[in-house]
Amino acid sequence: MKKLIGLQGNDRGHWVGDGFPVRTLFFYQDMGKQMSPFLMLDYAGPAEFPPTTERKGVGSHPHRGFETVTIVYEGEVAHKDSTGQGGVIGPGDVQWMTAGSGILHEEFHSEGFAKNGGTLDMVQLWVNLSAKLKMTKPAYQAVLDKQIPAIELKNDAGQARIIAGEFDGHTGPANTFTPLNVIDLKLKKGSTSIPVSEGWNASLVVLKGAVEAGEGVVAKDAQMLIFSNQGQDIQVNVLEDSIALLLGGEPINEPIVGYGPFVMNTKEEIAQAMQDFSSGSFGKIAH
Ligand code: MN
Repeated sequence: MKKLIGLQGNDRGHWVGDGFPVRTLFFYQDMGKQMSPFLMLDYAGPAEFPPTTERKGVGSHPHRGFETVTIVYEGEVAHKDSTGQGGVIGPGDVQWMTAGSGILHEEFHSEGFAKNGGTLDMVQLWVNLSAKLKMTKPAYQAVLDKQIPAIELKNDAGQARIIAGEFDGHTGPANTFTPLNVIDLKLKKGSTSIPVSEGWNASLVVLKGAVEAGEGVVAKDAQMLIFSNQGQDIQVNVLEDSIALLLGGEPINEPIVGYGPFVMNTKEEIAQAMQDFSSGSFGKIAH
């Protein structure tokens, strides 16, 4: 069993562009080692947006050295990037974008969602790439709800949607560079055990509900439980029906040096990223 080592949340939010009111639940600067291979998680919403004809979101910006994973629970997001890929994702869908050697992208509310207004509820997760993969070719995977296997948990504990990695004999559709799990969980009230491999870091991000672990530690909406990498499963007591994201993965034990949208291993690589971005080598977004 993995030992509970922390409870974390963040009451202070900030805006990403004018479309995404987020709370950053963890960040690599202080949590890089415990959370590896995950770098950051922004929980956007839930927030109500009135109908508008404006484009709300964040315009063209670069990334290098890691992957951005956008998971939509409510609302619709439109993405476009310099590899020529793009699309609109809605509830249950996921975008898995590999920035690798460098990508430019823009992230906006979809036209349809903006026009009708409604609730936006989504997560953006940053997944690190190991040193030898940081300069891999940029790529984009649209992972649609219908491609994601949904399985029942044992003992009627709820449902798991396997976005990435292997879980209970099923494999998620997202291709990953290092072994990891991203699992969307609907947990029913009661005690349950969730398998995560020995040696992997593990955390449970509670988006809605209340989940207890360790000696009476309770994570509520937008709080997360962080577990040790030793042991083979996490034991939780779900106090009310909850929606949670299980993050598990083999740690990448390498230095993390980041600056804004770039996450590399050294200061020199960050300087190079800034130089490459300003000289235009990240390409262009075609409109
Ligand atoms: Mn971005």
